[in-house]
Order: sequence, then C-alpha cells, then structure tokens
Amino acid sequence: MRITAGARNNYEIVIERDLVFHAASGMVSVMRILIVEDEKKLAGFIRKGLEEQGFTVTVCHNGDEAYTLLRAEPFDLIVLDIMLPGRDGLSILKNLRERKNTVPVILVTARVEKVERVEGLNLGADDYIAKPFYMDELIARVQAVLRRSSGEQLSVLRAGELTVNLITREVRRGKGEIILPPREFSLLEYLMRSPGRVFTRSQILEHVWGYSFDPGTNLVDVCIQRLRSQIDTGHADSLIEAVRGVGYRFRKTEETV
Ligand code: CA
Repeated sequence: MRITAGARNNYEIVIERDLVFHAASGMVSVMRILIVEDEKKLAGFIRKGLEEQGFTVTVCHNGDEAYTLLRAEPFDLIVLDIMLPGRDGLSILKNLRERKNTVPVILVTARVEKVERVEGLNLGADDYIAKPFYMDELIARVQAVLRRSSGEQLSVLRAGELTVNLITREVRRGKGEIILPPREFSLLEYLMRSPGRVFTRSQILEHVWGYSFDPGTNLVDVCIQRLRSQIDTGHADSLIEAVRGVGYRFRKTEETV
C-alpha cells in the first residue's frame, strides 16, 4: 500500500507498509503516538488529525490505564493531558522520567493551569499546548518535537534563502547575517514554524509576549515592521505577509522546511 498524504506543511509523508517516511527529515520509521485525554471528543479530534498525518495513534482516556500502557508498550511521542481520571498527567510524566524514559511528551493544559505547565516543563515535558488550540498547531509541535528528539539538524528553519538556527540563533538571508533582538527572533520563529498559516495579533501576543489578551496595543505591528526591515532589506519580496483584518503569516515557499 502506498498512500501519499500530500505535502501538508511542506512535509510529504508517504505511508508504505506501515512505514512512515518523513521526506523532510529522511527518517523512516513507524511513528507511534499515544494520546492521553479524557475529553473523548477532543481525543477523537486529535486522533483524526494525527492519523491524517500518517501517525499510528493509540488513545487512552484514563491516567491509570495510560500508566499501565506506558509500562508495556513503547511510543515515539505522548500527547498528555494534565487533569485526568485516575493518575494525573504530571505524575505520569514524573514516573516516566524517574524510569529514565525520555519519550517526548507534549502536555495539553487548560489555560488556567499555568503552575502545572511550569511544573511539567521542569519535570521534563518537551513542549505544551494550551486548550483551546488549532490542530495545525499541535501537528507543528508534534513534528518539531519529533525532529528534535530524532537528534537531527532540524534546529534550523529554512525558507528559500532565509535560515534561522534555533540553537545558535543565527539568522541569514542569502549571504547576509542578520542580528535580531530576542523579541523579533521569537516572532520570526513562531511565524516560520507554520508557513502559510495566518496568526491573529492576539495569538502572536500570547505566544511571543506571553499576554493572554489583546491589550489594544500596536506592539505586534511595530515588531513585525522591525522584523521585516531586517529580513527583507535588499530583497524584492517580503517573507511576512499582512492579511487584512486578520493578522500575519509567513509566506509559504517551496523550500520552507
Ligand atoms: Ca482533562
């Protein structure tokens, strides 16, 4: 069987006899994801989204069952809710790490669970996503975490001539090195991780500044202008597009990884 799932996120996934080939990374493997989420509707939604990306998905609605399952079967990644019937997400995570199990974990948190989120990251979660979220965002995070955990050089984001090294924080477009202040760097990284997706000002504020509401400032627009002036200088085309009445997006190019 050979199904080409398309070039979503510029990331062609070909399923061949249960092997998932990630064209962007050259990895060949069966990627098994465990979803631990007691909200059945949400769990089903996540399952569908991840299966569409070619992942093999197991769903578990209860913390105790997840705990038992994780002792019996290997997974490549866990999408782990915090508040669960039975054992909670954080104690599952804590137990995994105590057992030196380094399986990547993305925590699913409610907006009010800030303390738990920080605790989760301290316990060794690889990332978190706050409810409510877009499936695209979760997929981007799953892919990013898998790339990181596969030990590859995907700490570098690329779009045409623009390269952003997330470790050394070097930014280049063509031959020119660009020095970006931390805020502009975070903004660029955020937009670049989901090329083509439009982010509202509120979403950008929340992710880049950590505000959970729109305080009615033009912070985002000002930062976008500064970022554009840095990365577009000397180039005819702008990599960041304004979408009227909505927000901004990173232009999707053939070469975006
Ligand atoms: Ca829950």
